[in-house]
Amino acid sequence: MASTPDILIVGGGLAGSVTAIHLARRGHSVLVIERGTFPREKVCGEGMMPHGVAELEALGLGDAIRETGPVSFRGIAYHSGETTAIGDFPGGRTGLGLRRHRIDAALHQACADEPGVEVKLDTRVLDLHLGSEAVQIKTSRGVHQARVVIGADGLHSFVRRKAGLAKAPKGPARYGIRAHLHLSNDAPAMPRVEVFVLDDLEVYLTPTATDELNVAVLCGRALAQEFGEDLDVRLMARLSHEPALRPFLDGAEVLTPPAVWGPLRQRTRAVSADRVLLVGDAAGFIDALTGEGMSLSLVGARLAAEVLSTALHEGDLSARRLRTYDRQRARHGRSLSLLTELLVRGIRHRWLARRIVRNLARHPEAFSTLLGINIGERPIWAIPPRDLLQLTVGR
Ligand SMILES: Cc1cc2nc3c(=O)[nH]c(=O)nc-3n(C[C@H](O)[C@H](O)[C@H](O)COP(=O)(O)OP(=O)(O)OC[C@H]3O[C@@H](n4cnc5c(N)ncnc54)[C@H](O)[C@@H]3O)c2cc1C
Repeated sequence: MASTPDILIVGGGLAGSVTAIHLARRGHSVLVIERGTFPREKVCGEGMMPHGVAELEALGLGDAIRETGPVSFRGIAYHSGETTAIGDFPGGRTGLGLRRHRIDAALHQACADEPGVEVKLDTRVLDLHLGSEAVQIKTSRGVHQARVVIGADGLHSFVRRKAGLAKAPKGPARYGIRAHLHLSNDAPAMPRVEVFVLDDLEVYLTPTATDELNVAVLCGRALAQEFGEDLDVRLMARLSHEPALRPFLDGAEVLTPPAVWGPLRQRTRAVSADRVLLVGDAAGFIDALTGEGMSLSLVGARLAAEVLSTALHEGDLSARRLRTYDRQRARHGRSLSLLTELLVRGIRHRWLARRIVRNLARHPEAFSTLLGINIGERPIWAIPPRDLLQLTVGR
């Protein structure tokens, strides 16, 4: 590779690796700088929605992903008190439960093998200078220069902050906790992701192998702090007291100890600036409760590469030219963002959450439409306002 690559990507996780592959296939030279090494764990619910799987298939990465041993799920089951609402993805589509330490390593390998891409692991980006002709990046192992920088450095992105694209947080902070369990032989089969809305937290159970599941808990700051340093013991003790969770947890063994990540909500003023683009969680995150973060990152990676490639060919890397990416990303994610915002607000009021689960159980076709919005297949206005009202306030 030339000593000055076209693009420098900060962060070699899922979003960074896939963006690099897209750009290299469009003929650009890419340097990816990742502070960690692979395989590494990542706090995540590990349920990839069908449109995320389709993005990887379209890149020819389907086999690489299947080799990591994922399991399919066909929808979501919500439990609240005695009520269970079951929704399947429209058109018989399926998502994948996958372990991030395996899939991220597979994507990193595919990225490192892609002609035109160089990856530097175990290298931390420390500073960033945005010049009028180039971008200069100081790392723990030296200084690099490129025509443009992409921030793919996750939820608490350094590039986002440094490029002045971060926006002050708003609303109550929520946190995510994740552990893996090896299931007992008596555990029920899991054709869907199971979501339990409890009084002060939500629990997401995603199958990641036939005998293994991911437990992700979403909660407020106070509870995340209360679980505190004794997370393993306190979290598992709390969950095993919930009767609804017992069939899954009884006899299960903890495979990976729980880890906390957050605050989840990260806002941005924009996802591009002069010589800068943000992809993945660095481009902003609302909440993990709709489980679409990986898929949105994969779609965003493709959109960013399309816009940037044209801009590079035209020799115009101004904020004005790159703003097309903001518009395309917003257009793609508008319905989902709105749905996620509505759900995050609704779930604060447990009486409302209980009512919604009851109404979803009564109207499975509306549930399936909601899942269609979640997987980017339908706009939010596919649900007539009357039906939306019935789902939320209907008795
Ligand atoms: C609790 C929880 C549950 C979730 N559940 C789901 C789910 O079920 N389904 C789903 O699709 N999504 C889910 N998500 C969201 C999903 O995990 C993210 O959207 C996705 O991982 C984003 O990928 P990314 O590549 O942007 O970030 P990351 O995977 O975090 O990658 C960022 C990379 O940047 C590197 N980096 C950071 N700073 C630097 C630096 N200064 N120098 C060099 N490298 C750096 C990091 O080491 C890391 O490898 C969940 C998230 C949480 C927190």
